[in-house]
Amino acid sequence: MATNPHLDIDQKMLGDIHTSREMMDHLEILCDDFGSRFGGTEGERLAARFFRDKFKAYGLTNVKMEPYKYAAWTRGETTLQITHPVQRDIPCIALPYCPSATVETELVSVGDGAPDDFQNAGRLKGKFVMATSKTPPDVGRFIHRSEKYGRSALAGAAGFIFMNHYDGLGPATGSIADNREAILPGISVAKESGAYLERLLRRKGAVRLKLKTRNRTRQRTSWNIVGELPGNTIPDEWVLIGCHYDGHDISQGAHDPISGLAAIMDAARVLSAYAQDRIDCGIRFVAFGTEEIGLIGAKEYVKAHADELDQIRLMFNMDSAGGGGRKGIVMHYWPELDAFFDQARDQLHDDLPYGHKLSAFSDHFPFFEAGVPSAGMGDVAATFSGRGFGHTAFDTLDKLHLSDLRAAASVASRILLRIACEKKWPAQRRAQQAVDAITAKESNLDNLAVDAAVERLYRRRKKSAEL
Ligand SMILES: [Zn+2]
Repeated sequence: MATNPHLDIDQKMLGDIHTSREMMDHLEILCDDFGSRFGGTEGERLAARFFRDKFKAYGLTNVKMEPYKYAAWTRGETTLQITHPVQRDIPCIALPYCPSATVETELVSVGDGAPDDFQNAGRLKGKFVMATSKTPPDVGRFIHRSEKYGRSALAGAAGFIFMNHYDGLGPATGSIADNREAILPGISVAKESGAYLERLLRRKGAVRLKLKTRNRTRQRTSWNIVGELPGNTIPDEWVLIGCHYDGHDISQGAHDPISGLAAIMDAARVLSAYAQDRIDCGIRFVAFGTEEIGLIGAKEYVKAHADELDQIRLMFNMDSAGGGGRKGIVMHYWPELDAFFDQARDQLHDDLPYGHKLSAFSDHFPFFEAGVPSAGMGDVAATFSGRGFGHTAFDTLDKLHLSDLRAAASVASRILLRIACEKKWPAQRRAQQAVDAITAKESNLDNLAVDAAVERLYRRRKKSAEL
C-alpha cells in the first residue's frame, strides 16, 4: 500500500469541500442571475468580475482580467418557411456566426452527415443541406457539427440546417465559424421539425424552403480571468487549470461549461486555505472567455503568454467537468506522465481512470498545438455519442448535483497539489514536429483538414468580394 505524503492536507481539503455548499451558491448566481454568459452579454461581463473578485477573496495573487478583442455575434430574427409543396412555418434558430441572409431553395438531407454522405456534391450545390447531430454509425469517430457544416459549404450549399437527433430537446446550437462571420447561413431545428421535413421530402419528392435571418457580428472585448498561488521553491514553473465561462446564448450553460469552473473555484479555495505553504511550483487558475465561438480566450492566452509556455507543467482543462461520470485524467498523449498518475491514484485511494485521447473541441487544444503538456478531466473509457441536453435550452442548473461537483473539486484539488509538489516534472513541451505527428495520426482530428479547406474558401470569396 502506497503511503500518502499529503494525507494531512487531503483530509482538510476534502472535509471542507464535502461540508460546503459554496459551489451550488456560485452556480445559482452564475446561471440564474447572469444567464448564459455568452460573449457580448451583460452576464458575461458580470461573470468575469465575479471570478476576479472570488479569486481575490480566496487569497490568490496577480489576479487579472486579461482583455482581448474578438468578433461578437448577436442573433436577430430568423424565420424558416416551407414554400412548396405546402406553406408552413418551421421553428428554428440561427447558429452563432450565421450571417444575415435571405435564401429560398430546395432541401436535401444528408442523414447523419458522414463524410460519404457528401459525395455526389453536385446534388448539394445551391441547396439547403440538412444533417442531424447524431454520430453516424460505422465512421468510428464523433463527427462534429462544424465538419458537417464545412462539408456542406465545400459542396457549394446555399445554407445548412442542423437537425437535433434527440426527442423533445428543441434545436441544438453551436457555432459555425471561429471568431468571424460564417461563410454561409446555418440554422438549427428540433428533431420533430427535421423528421417532418424528411417525411415531406420522401412523400412529395421536393421541398422548397425560404430562410430569412438577421444577425450581427461586430468587434467587442472579452476577458480571461487569471489568478495564482505562487510556488515556494520552484516559482518559475506552473500547473495551469482552466475552464471557459461562456455558455451558449440559448441556455444557462450549467453543465457545459460552468460546472467545471465551479469545481475549479472550490479547488482554488481549499488549496489556498490549506496547501499554500506546501506547494513547490505555482498553480495558475484561468477562467477562459468565448470558447463556444472558437476557443478564442484560450488562443488569446497562448498568444499573450507565449514567452512562458515552456514553464507550464500541465494545462488541465475542466470544461464541463462537474457533471456526472468518473473523474479521471484524459491526457493528450503524454505517456511520460503515466507513472505520475499511477502513483497519484495509489495515494488518492480513488479509481482515477487515466489514459490518452484527444479532440480539438475545447480550450486545451491551442495549448496542445503549442506543444504544452495538456489533459482534461473525464473518463478515458467513456465513448462520446452526443451532447444530450448540451447546447440546448435545457442545459440548466437543475441537472447538476452537488455530489458530482464535489467529486470533481476533490480530484482537481488533490491532483493539483501533487503536480505542484513534484520536484522534477517528467513532461516537457513538445517540438512542433512531434505535435504534427500526433495530429496526423489521430482520427479524431480529421475535421481539421475540412476546417482548413473552408478557411481557404472563405479567404478566396472574401478576396473576390473585395476586388
Ligand atoms: Zn464547453
